[in-house]
Amino acid sequence: MPLREVLKFPDKRLREVSEPVAEIDDEIRALAQDMLDVMYDEPGIGLAAPQVGVAVRLVVVDTEWTAEDAERNPLVLVNPELHDAEGKITWTEGCLSVPDFEAEVERAERVRLKATDLDGKEIVIDAEGLQAVCFQHEIDHLDGTLFIDRISRLKRNLYVQKRKKQLRREAEEAGTAVPV
Ligand SMILES: [Zn+2]
Repeated sequence: MPLREVLKFPDKRLREVSEPVAEIDDEIRALAQDMLDVMYDEPGIGLAAPQVGVAVRLVVVDTEWTAEDAERNPLVLVNPELHDAEGKITWTEGCLSVPDFEAEVERAERVRLKATDLDGKEIVIDAEGLQAVCFQHEIDHLDGTLFIDRISRLKRNLYVQKRKKQLRREAEEAGTAVPV
């Protein structure tokens, strides 16, 4: 089966506020597996369901995994929430939905994450550093927020212009209409 497509900025579906998962059924389990397949294929260290066009509060994360070191320790987070944010940290972030762009973003340095796993069991993780950043980035997606919303307006506008040019070029090469 082909992998699900990752939506890219400025797709409006990335701006929706996702609904809580009401019941962990076969559909949710299949979605989580599809999201892991996409995340490891890209590769990325996190993916939120709205990035594949499903507006539910489901996130997959694997901050230990890299392409060179193939050991996988995926976390599947159902209805994740952040508590007890502390401190400040600046991290260079990128996003599978924001092509060809990275920027420094200020986040909380430590967070407590609460969620459930696919069996409905409670997960509590005291995260710091990269993992804390990743949790905040992915949960932002569930609220329709992208990391480019958290950088200066100047930097964001530069990216938006660059992205528009990129889309125009792609459309021209494909011989299709110019997207608005
Ligand atoms: Zn992202």
